[in-house]
Amino acid sequence: MTERLTPAGVARAAALLREGALVAFPTETVYGLGADARNGTAVAGIFAAKGRPHFNPLISHFPDAATAFAEVAPDARAEALAARFWPGALTLVLPRRSESRIDLLTGAGLDTLAVRVPAHPLAQALLRAAGTPVAAPSANRSGGVSPTTADHVLDGLSGRIAAVIDGGPCAVGLESTVLDLSTPTPVLLRPGGVTAEAIEAMIGPLARSGAGQPGTLRSPGMLLSHYAPGLPLRLEAREVAADEALLAFGPSLPGAGATWNLSEAGDPAEAAARLFAGLRWLDAEGARQGLRGIAAMPVPMAGLGEAINDRLRRAAAPR
Ligand code: AMP
Ligand code: MG
Repeated sequence: MTERLTPAGVARAAALLREGALVAFPTETVYGLGADARNGTAVAGIFAAKGRPHFNPLISHFPDAATAFAEVAPDARAEALAARFWPGALTLVLPRRSESRIDLLTGAGLDTLAVRVPAHPLAQALLRAAGTPVAAPSANRSGGVSPTTADHVLDGLSGRIAAVIDGGPCAVGLESTVLDLSTPTPVLLRPGGVTAEAIEAMIGPLARSGAGQPGTLRSPGMLLSHYAPGLPLRLEAREVAADEALLAFGPSLPGAGATWNLSEAGDPAEAAARLFAGLRWLDAEGARQGLRGIAAMPVPMAGLGEAINDRLRRAAAPR
């Protein structure tokens, strides 16, 4: 059962988030599907509830710039843009701080994180009450239309999420502008509520992603230089060699040395939450032990298995 909360239910919604449950809430752009960004299992739940076939990085939401910049390192451009446009429809992609406790799944294993301070009063109240960064993509099933009312959210996600805060219709329309400031030349990854002209007036020319196709986006998978392990990855492994590290799922293989088990119980949500940390650990451990590669056991396609397999295929693809 999905609870429909009134604005008076913000404290209840915040408690649900802290417990690892999924809560949809209004922002000034669209309704977001929120989870505690530091809880990998909760974030895996976002992908499961949406039925997303791949892990794209999610935007983490904060009540103010100070809490956002505790997780990512702003430069002078980011400080100026935040002072001018936050709270509001601008998302900044910045290098994550080494001390950040935001789960790797939230950022799809990247060294950068997307952060935003929304202006909607209910979003503000929820973020303050939750006291933790909240990862939130749009609150619709994958491939569906972004929801601008609580009814839209329930049409797609009723029974799949703990609650929705009904804040009435969103100021319909634009999603947040996504600006990548992790490179010397800032890149406009997604046009949105804050115009490129307004940003350029402050920090100079922007590069556009998806050059030649104004207004269209490259898919996140194309767009991003996903974290890829330095060691070659061998998929569908049913045995493991002495000089290979093992990415296990379910009961491990005989003779395995350096092993990261995604989920001994074979639980896809646990596996999703442990995937990016596992790739990084195996890469480092394999290099330390002088191993020649990583063998990955098969993961069934059911549920989050599809997204896990998509990510493993990308990591195994020739570069
Ligand atoms: P949504 O959550 O559906 O509003 O979409 C978030 C957008 O931000 C997508 O286009 C993502 O690809 C983009 N994004 C989020 N985090 C990052 C990141 N670390 N680097 C690049 N793009 C990002
Ligand atoms: Mg969406």
